[in-house]
Amino acid sequence: MDDWLQEWNKFDESAIDEIKSHNDDTHLEREWMSYVYEKNGKYFIGRASKGEESKIEIVPAEKTAVDTMTKGFTKKDRRWTIHGHPLKDGKIYNGRQYFSSTDLIDEFIEVRDSGKGGGRSRIVQFVVYPHEQNENGKRVIHNRVRVLVFPDAQTIVQAMKRSNPHVDPNRITKETGQNKVGSDGNTQMNDMNVDWFKFQEELGRTGHMGIVDIEGAVGEHMRSETHAKSSFAQYGLGIAVLGIIVYFVQKKRS
Ligand SMILES: [Zn+2]
Repeated sequence: MDDWLQEWNKFDESAIDEIKSHNDDTHLEREWMSYVYEKNGKYFIGRASKGEESKIEIVPAEKTAVDTMTKGFTKKDRRWTIHGHPLKDGKIYNGRQYFSSTDLIDEFIEVRDSGKGGGRSRIVQFVVYPHEQNENGKRVIHNRVRVLVFPDAQTIVQAMKRSNPHVDPNRITKETGQNKVGSDGNTQMNDMNVDWFKFQEELGRTGHMGIVDIEGAVGEHMRSETHAKSSFAQYGLGIAVLGIIVYFVQKKRS
């Protein structure tokens, strides 16, 4: 089984219900973010912090203290983060269905340099985002979770080389690798011309990224297990995602 799916499968059912609830309405306008904690081999999430339309800021120590007080999770159980990208102006933007350069830059550098710097050598991230689907002729929005694994330094450096052949992965810094916001408020390409969408797709091709659908009425999840294959991301003109194969697995609880 691909490592991204193994990571998803560790979520307790109660955590998936919570993830769904944060995206039911609030995803319409604000980002949210929680820590992912591991207890007895299962993943749970802490209290969600709310941000703005395209930004969220938290203080890690304070946030963990709140999770300890309200849910009993401590720093030693803390593993990863999960956050939600909302609609913007009531619309779906394909770029927000991926991790942004800001979501990835620190983690990329930490894993890449883990051999020298002593940072984490493996990082997993989760982002929840709205996705439009056609259901019996009606336009409906389902929420999906993208799971991304940085398994080790060598794998992410290779994925960067394959997806962005013009970039030297070892020269990417927080300053040069992060997309900028122009004076018009729109996102502009970073100085090193790293296409982070293509980088994510490359990790998908090698089994380290995938998508899950979380939907259904209360007490029922519909999950799909997706392998992103031969997808294609084009920066700037919007992103065309081709050839995504979605397998639906309906799971009912009594
Ligand atoms: Zn994000």
